Amino acid sequence: MYSARAGVMTDPQHPQKEKKKRTPDPDFWRKTSDHPSTRLKTIAKSYNAAVDSVEFARLLDSDDPLSSFRSEFHYPSIADLDLKSGPATSSKDDSIYLCGQSLGLQPKSTRSLVLDELDKWEKKGVRGHAHVAQLPWVTIESTVKEASARLVGALPSEVCIMNTLSVNLHVGMLAFYRPTSERYKIMLEAKAFPSDHYAIQSQIQVHGYDPSESLVIVAPRPGEETLRTEDIVKTIEEQGDAIALILFGGVQYYTGQVLDMARITEAGHKRGCRVGFDLAHAIGNVPLRLHDWHVDFACWCTYKYLNAGPGAVGGFFVHDTHARDFSLPRMEGWWGHDLDTRFRMDNTRGLLPGADGFQSSNPPVLETVCLLSSLRMFNRTSIEQLRAKSIHLTGYLELLLDILYSKDDPNRSGPYVELITPRNVDERGAQLSIRFSVSLKNVFDWITERGVVVDLRKPDVMRVGPMPFYNSFEDVHKFVRLLGEAFSAVS
Ligand SMILES: *Cc1c(COP(=O)(O)O)cnc(C)c1O
Repeated sequence: MYSARAGVMTDPQHPQKEKKKRTPDPDFWRKTSDHPSTRLKTIAKSYNAAVDSVEFARLLDSDDPLSSFRSEFHYPSIADLDLKSGPATSSKDDSIYLCGQSLGLQPKSTRSLVLDELDKWEKKGVRGHAHVAQLPWVTIESTVKEASARLVGALPSEVCIMNTLSVNLHVGMLAFYRPTSERYKIMLEAKAFPSDHYAIQSQIQVHGYDPSESLVIVAPRPGEETLRTEDIVKTIEEQGDAIALILFGGVQYYTGQVLDMARITEAGHKRGCRVGFDLAHAIGNVPLRLHDWHVDFACWCTYKYLNAGPGAVGGFFVHDTHARDFSLPRMEGWWGHDLDTRFRMDNTRGLLPGADGFQSSNPPVLETVCLLSSLRMFNRTSIEQLRAKSIHLTGYLELLLDILYSKDDPNRSGPYVELITPRNVDERGAQLSIRFSVSLKNVFDWITERGVVVDLRKPDVMRVGPMPFYNSFEDVHKFVRLLGEAFSAVS
């Protein structure tokens, strides 16, 4: 049943022919003041296509100036997923991978970069550190610094690629959480990612304070799903004198909400608080301006929107205003010290200014080249272009869900979906977090068996993240169609 329909959907006649005839306008996804659903409806009208037809999805794909990037990723087929059961276990069709918010797909260029390093190690041994023409290990971090800095809106000297995310949360807190008896609290969002919550609690304990008295948690208002900036700012104004550090996710992992980092930072600084952000779900997803926003520190992982692979090396930002404040506490190691003196082995102090001075160890080379491979792809487009497509791709998902399964449609009965992610595109990135009127688990299992890869986050949300780099409008269309079939099957 599924494969028969999938066969129709991937009919080579239609999209391929269209694609050859068209030269996509590089500016096709320009940002407009319209909500993307309005723009998509206008485009559909101009094509005389029904908004929810697969033909329209294919037309959008053929207009998409970024569509060729998909073939530069290893995009899993359904058979690749090794499903244990279901009607499609051996299907060669593309899976419907909408899970880049959890683990981005592998760029095809990554393997050879990793193999090059294994070869280098094999042939050169320790000489790979400095005595090679290509990518000497001793300075490997410098190859990923600039592109990373561009993605977060920072000077290269404000960024260092090191450690992993949760470790870098601790690095940032060690430097910027300096509690005193009057000012000892940390402000964070309700339902912060557990690792962030644990890290914050443990930092409070390390300094001898009691987490039960030291957390200022901002939650959505009763009956609402997402945070209001005005509530965050008000809490900062009211309690700021006792808050040492404000630490939010730039994009909330559960709801997909983009927080107003500029306003939060400004409000925090006005009250004398330090301000940091966890950018796990923000980097590579939405444009960021950490330098201009005067954020004190930030950190991120590279395996979600940056496609650097499972457990890949993390990133750290510290604002230029702190670049030469060598009194900031840190977990010193040789790598945070000047390269000229680093190998003298005589304990000369020579902390590097900026983010580099927060390094402890020599970097993980294999992971760093995985990131390099991914960043080279970002360098061939821009976060602005990706974001412009992303707004429309996610807007298309939202539009189809609204047309087909809206709770508010008086002409429909049967299962419905609700979005907890903001409708305002400026307050969200690629991800939509969805609730259902029927069993989330049953729907999830049913679509998983048919080659959909999304994730569940407890207690009751499915996160769906169409990625502008490698997802098509047809992927989104297939997902929404299967969701409808799942509703009939499980209710
Ligand atoms: C993914 C994620 C993490 C994971 O941390 P690791 O140290 O990379 O395991 C932490 N915090 C947030 C907000 C995340 O989204």
